[in-house]
Amino acid sequence: MSYLKRAWAETHLDRIKTNVENFRKFLNPKTELLCVVKANCYGNGDDAIVPYLEKNLNVNWFAVSNIEEAKHLRDIGIKGEILILGYTPPEYAKELVKYDIIQTVTEESHALELSKFCPIGNRIRIHCALDTGMTRIGVCENTTKKTCDAVERISNLKGLELEGIFTHLAVADSDNNDDVNYTRKQIEKITAAAEELKKRLVVLNQIHFLNSAGGIYHSTDKSTLARLGIIMYGLKPNSSLKVPFKLEPVLDFKACVSMVKEVDKDVFISYGRTYKTESPAKIATITVGYADGYPRYLSNKGEVLINGKRARIVGRVCMDQIMCDVTGIDVKTGDVATLIGADGDEVITADDIADIGSTIGYEVICNISRRVPRVIYENGKQIDVLKY
Ligand SMILES: *Cc1c(COP(=O)(O)O)cnc(C)c1O
Repeated sequence: MSYLKRAWAETHLDRIKTNVENFRKFLNPKTELLCVVKANCYGNGDDAIVPYLEKNLNVNWFAVSNIEEAKHLRDIGIKGEILILGYTPPEYAKELVKYDIIQTVTEESHALELSKFCPIGNRIRIHCALDTGMTRIGVCENTTKKTCDAVERISNLKGLELEGIFTHLAVADSDNNDDVNYTRKQIEKITAAAEELKKRLVVLNQIHFLNSAGGIYHSTDKSTLARLGIIMYGLKPNSSLKVPFKLEPVLDFKACVSMVKEVDKDVFISYGRTYKTESPAKIATITVGYADGYPRYLSNKGEVLINGKRARIVGRVCMDQIMCDVTGIDVKTGDVATLIGADGDEVITADDIADIGSTIGYEVICNISRRVPRVIYENGKQIDVLKY
């Protein structure tokens, strides 16, 4: 399996295994793992990862953002439960049934519409989202009673099979006191609703509220599922807070040195003349740019690793190329530059990059574009190449 060695990502399945196993140890034994595999597994390559989770790690629950992603999982042979976490227009009711996908109900009117569009004689499986403080989606009432009234009405709609309720935590990744209390209140709200619905004989198989941060920083006792995203991919939910086990970043991002040259003092590099050499320098050009999802905010700020050494990006990141100062480093055309990952004793993480751009590691890995093939490794051996 070959690929163009221009800019590519390396996805390591054995690292996923380590991260999943470590996270599982934190869960109440009754809490089942639900792997969040939206957005091409946060850019890591769903075609390789999801079958691996299902076959090798015995994961039975998957969550995606939309119906296209859900259908794609069925198309590649995934048999487990698939939950769509976001809105699906009611016109897709037939496909939800056909592909046996569980749909999130975003509000009561959404449930009514789905019910109307459900083909006669069928039922759409649903989980009802409750808004307990994220203010994004979910049934949104100010008392447990009113919330349960709405859920109960939804449970009685024809064409719908209410199987669960869930909520999403807004600040589970914070250790600030106010935030910790906010999370506790969110958890109290959903567990109170679950107890009240039980009294009203509304049967729910699943009540869930944990994300990665919730799973490690909060009690997992009352969540039947833990929706594991970022930690599975080896990044921290919050880059400034410790995770209680060693995370293994799953994805490495690499590119090639395409040219090396010696330049004089006072030479301008790249668009906009934002960088001028202060002394004679050795400059390497590397085959990656913002069209590959390598952020332009790294201009004059980021670093790459070449032959175990750090090299600073000089001048602006271009669409397809960058330049680095490699003065004093042994470099030749064809050498590999590590943009994310380890080389010798040096490491650059997606979180390091995110910090420079005042963003989060999630965004950095999700943004690696489809021009970049994902080369899949298991136990250090290349087993597949995903091209888009
Ligand atoms: C994306 C998402 C998750 C996963 O969050 P992580 O922080 O990546 O673990 C869980 N639940 C919902 C509803 C989501 O949208």
